[in-house]
Amino acid sequence: MYPAPFRYHRPEDLPAAIKLLSRFGDDAKVLAGGQSLIPMMKLRMGDIAEVIDIGRLSGLSNIEVRESTLCIGALATHAKIAASELAAGIPALVEAAAGIADKQVRSMGTIGGGLSVADASGDWPTCLRGLNASVVIVGAAGSRKVPISDFVVDAYATCLKSDEIVTEIQVPLPDANTSSAYVAFKRAAAAFPTCSVGVQLTLENNICQQVSLVLGCAGPTAVVSAEAEAQLQGKEINSETLRAAAQTIVAASDPPPDARGSAVFKRAMLETLVVEAGERALARCRGEAVNGGHRYA
Ligand SMILES: Cc1cc2nc3c(=O)[nH]c(=O)nc-3n(C[C@H](O)[C@H](O)[C@H](O)COP(=O)(O)OP(=O)(O)OC[C@H]3O[C@@H](n4cnc5c(N)ncnc54)[C@H](O)[C@@H]3O)c2cc1C
Repeated sequence: MYPAPFRYHRPEDLPAAIKLLSRFGDDAKVLAGGQSLIPMMKLRMGDIAEVIDIGRLSGLSNIEVRESTLCIGALATHAKIAASELAAGIPALVEAAAGIADKQVRSMGTIGGGLSVADASGDWPTCLRGLNASVVIVGAAGSRKVPISDFVVDAYATCLKSDEIVTEIQVPLPDANTSSAYVAFKRAAAAFPTCSVGVQLTLENNICQQVSLVLGCAGPTAVVSAEAEAQLQGKEINSETLRAAAQTIVAASDPPPDARGSAVFKRAMLETLVVEAGERALARCRGEAVNGGHRYA
């Protein structure tokens, strides 16, 4: 189907883009890589009269380190992040980026877009939650920085106001004792995950000092469990302790049955993925080189 008629705007810079968003309010949508917005418009989901193309704004796709933080411009594509040497220091980031869809989608789709869609099956909201990322937002009222946990408020809903644009995602750089992993189960490459798991671990003398466990596709937003994390803190990480924590966090989740699988199947798969991602992060904390990659049906 063709999209309903709309007006296309290509502002010169960020202030001009924000001015247009302020002028058109809820009638306008930002266009970045177009990999979600264009299909949605073709399906005629939502009334979008004004499309504000920010895809070619300069300075919004850099990946750089500033003050112990990896700063990723909102327009950085999944492919750019997957190939970034700086992002390689945070393995979960590269695993999420490299596993999204196929080459075409990865070369057009952006991290800012993937996050702003806030799809419960999307890779970025889950992965970035596990890494305790923050989101920098610029709007008519100025700039603000929000933790990822406050950015995604529900399925397909964020805290963005109609005149606001995500400009940067900030991920704290891990110290030498910290590493991460992100693993998804997918039916095929060019499909959203059936379920996914992000883990970040800090080890000292083999004992877990800090852990972040996140499930994707397991509820309207990323699922976390303080109880499951407490089960691992201060303990040795092994497949047994990981399995116990996996059972606790999966019990706190509510994976919806759909074409990708039943709730029972997803729970079993999530449990397996927590152990796999945990073991991967553990090996990396110990300095072992571990290949990434998702599980495919
Ligand atoms: C076949 C296919 C398979 C896919 N598989 C996966 C997958 O496995 N995993 C996955 O995570 N994703 C998947 N996607 C989605 C893909 O990752 C998109 O790139 C992403 O969801 C949107 O990024 P985009 O830059 O294309 O955003 P757009 O489509 O341009 O925009 C999407 C939405 O975000 C808003 N937006 C975009 N950028 C900003 C910004 N900087 N600030 C504020 N709002 C913004 C737009 O207004 C719009 O509402 C798939 C897409 C396709 C077509």
